[in-house]
Amino acid sequence: MITRAEFPAWPDGADVAVALTFDVDGEAPWLGAGAEYSRRMTALSQGRFGPERGLGRVLDLLAVHQIPGTFYIPGHTVDHHPDAISAIAAAGVHEFAHHGYMHLGTEGLDEAGQRDELKRGLAAFDRHGIRPIGYRSPGWELTPETMTMLAEFGFSYESSLMADDRPYWELSGSQPVLELPGHWSLCDWPYFGFTPYDGGLLANPDTVERIWLEEFESARAERRVVTYTMHPEAIGRGYLTRMLDRVITGMRERGQPWFATHAQIAALASSDGER
Ligand SMILES: [Zn+2]
Repeated sequence: MITRAEFPAWPDGADVAVALTFDVDGEAPWLGAGAEYSRRMTALSQGRFGPERGLGRVLDLLAVHQIPGTFYIPGHTVDHHPDAISAIAAAGVHEFAHHGYMHLGTEGLDEAGQRDELKRGLAAFDRHGIRPIGYRSPGWELTPETMTMLAEFGFSYESSLMADDRPYWELSGSQPVLELPGHWSLCDWPYFGFTPYDGGLLANPDTVERIWLEEFESARAERRVVTYTMHPEAIGRGYLTRMLDRVITGMRERGQPWFATHAQIAALASSDGER
């Protein structure tokens, strides 16, 4: 039984709430995967493309469309790409959210290890005067201990689970945590995240454009939230930023989306007026 989050009508007469979210992973997933990657310059450069090049394209596109994004960033990226943090902050409309420190999957960490990742990620943001209120686990893996710690650290929401395609209250930790679910089909990585080490598809963007707009139509018909998850190292490739441009334009042609950050959506959530 899912405890769904309740929402009032979307602002400005919108018929759907759309969250464009971006995981700026940088080199952290590679370095977190093992010390052997620290000398593999090609692998690392693929990650580096995100904050160094792809992010600029994403920010330019969001500015053109006047859309706020939610940026989930590992602390390692925060520490090693301060210009990326400044560029996101300079727009004045985007949200920063927690995405671990070394992008270590929670399922491979004990409680102390998870706590360390959370604290180091918060400390990295704190050096920029930023306190994130949202969390997305690296690789979308979560444990019950994570949920308990998110409540302890005062996070307002999290975005890693998939038990519903509507926001709900996840009850596996010590306190209910607002879940803003995503899905692999609404993420750029399974389609475009090719590496010679992990494989991948390099899908036709026309196909993905159609899937993402079909999901938008479904969300609009149900007047619900829909979250898209992207990575500047993938969506920031030129041809894919053009696809995202077409998706945004297509949404505005089809309906009246409220493009919002996860924090803006979380602020409207309630359950029986209690939380
Ligand atoms: Zn990530």
